[in-house]
Amino acid sequence: MPTNTAIEHRRAAILSIGDELTLGQKVDTNSRWLSQQLVDLGISIVEHATIPDDLDAHVSALNRLASRCDLIISTGGLGPTADDLTREAIAIASSDSLIHDYDAEQQIRAWFTARGRIPASINMVQAKRPSRGSLLENNHGTAPGLFAHIAAESHRCDVFCLPGPPREMMPMFDAAVRPALRPPSGRVIETRVLHSVGIGESDLAQRLGSLMDRTNVPLVGTTASGGVVSVRIRYEGESPRQQAHAAVDAAARRVMQLAGEYVFGAGNDTLASVVLGRLKESGQTIAVVESCTGGMLGEELTAIPGSSACVLGGWITYSNQMKQSQVGVPGELCAPNGPGAVSHEVARAMACGGRERSGASIAVSITGVAGPDGGTPAKPVGTVWISLSHAKGSDTRRFSMAGDRASIRSWSCTAALAMAWQHLDGRSHSLLRQVEAHVA
Ligand code: ATP
Ligand code: MG
Repeated sequence: MPTNTAIEHRRAAILSIGDELTLGQKVDTNSRWLSQQLVDLGISIVEHATIPDDLDAHVSALNRLASRCDLIISTGGLGPTADDLTREAIAIASSDSLIHDYDAEQQIRAWFTARGRIPASINMVQAKRPSRGSLLENNHGTAPGLFAHIAAESHRCDVFCLPGPPREMMPMFDAAVRPALRPPSGRVIETRVLHSVGIGESDLAQRLGSLMDRTNVPLVGTTASGGVVSVRIRYEGESPRQQAHAAVDAAARRVMQLAGEYVFGAGNDTLASVVLGRLKESGQTIAVVESCTGGMLGEELTAIPGSSACVLGGWITYSNQMKQSQVGVPGELCAPNGPGAVSHEVARAMACGGRERSGASIAVSITGVAGPDGGTPAKPVGTVWISLSHAKGSDTRRFSMAGDRASIRSWSCTAALAMAWQHLDGRSHSLLRQVEAHVA
């Protein structure tokens, strides 16, 4: 554990390293997690930087970030192979040289022995560290982390280098980095996120009005993603935590006054988790009948732990024949002279049939034209009918989804979950991209 850390860590940067990240083959989840941990401690994040496995890029990123920050946390590049350059980069940036650490060599050997394996000679490169730096123990893999510091012009920047794999990085952060951090005393960062559905980002911004002024404390901002618009509230200042908390509470209450009917959850809530929560609270169950989403809705619901308490199951009725044989859609509805598979009548019959055959309290169906082929002037690509059947009737809506096949399918799931949430929460506002509704 490093003992010679700076007095205070006020401004931090997170550096993600790896060709797989810059090539877009892997999503950088480490930065997100690390930011959350630092922000919770009251440390401001000034930058997320992502670089390929390249020594020059690595050294210049370290130097540039060190000039702006007093803390850098990097992930990746600590493995034993030739493309793992974190050791060399930190040695150069901290004007130091690499030495072999015999204690670390013993730990690496012990890690392999405990698993009945013999370390390859290249693994011994992982026992190297800058002479003035120190190693951070890895209890979940072979690559030890590193601690070093870079002398910037007017200050010192502490650098913690953690392994890339999240299951190694997170426990190392908790064991070796968190206790060594010195968050600025008295400084608090308090955040809150509220999630809304059924309103566009600009309409929501209009409702929130001056609450979103960039000079406000706390700051209120919005982000839209796949049909859900989230309101982010952030307080950053020197006040006592209680005061920050009260200010964030007040802003959240104001958001609820101005747009509360669209807000379905907060923090880590998702539409699926909120729907499952409501079903559980009221002792109800759900079934799904999917055509163009091919099981995505079932996947979203069952991805939530504990979903078995209220998800009964469902059908992927892609063909007309399956719509008829599995959930009893009348043949004439799918016939050439009938309304067709993508219609109010078929969506409703799918949901009602699914509900009857499963015995679920509610059933949701989705049938649409996801494209890129199959559109007609009457039913262009993006036409999606979603129906919800419940004990007292049904709610069937037509949507006109935009975008490619993937976004049409994912928007359809969001709309279906939003309809279920509205039903369970007693709400009825029209949803984004909804163009027609039938309540029976
Ligand atoms: P290893 O000993 O496994 O080689 P390492 O420190 O060298 O560890 P990398 O080789 O850079 O780490 O990455 C190993 C794996 O960790 C990557 O294939 C990827 O799955 C995961 N990983 C790396 N960086 C990130 C990141 N920023 N976010 C999420 N996963 C990541
Ligand atoms: Mg590696």
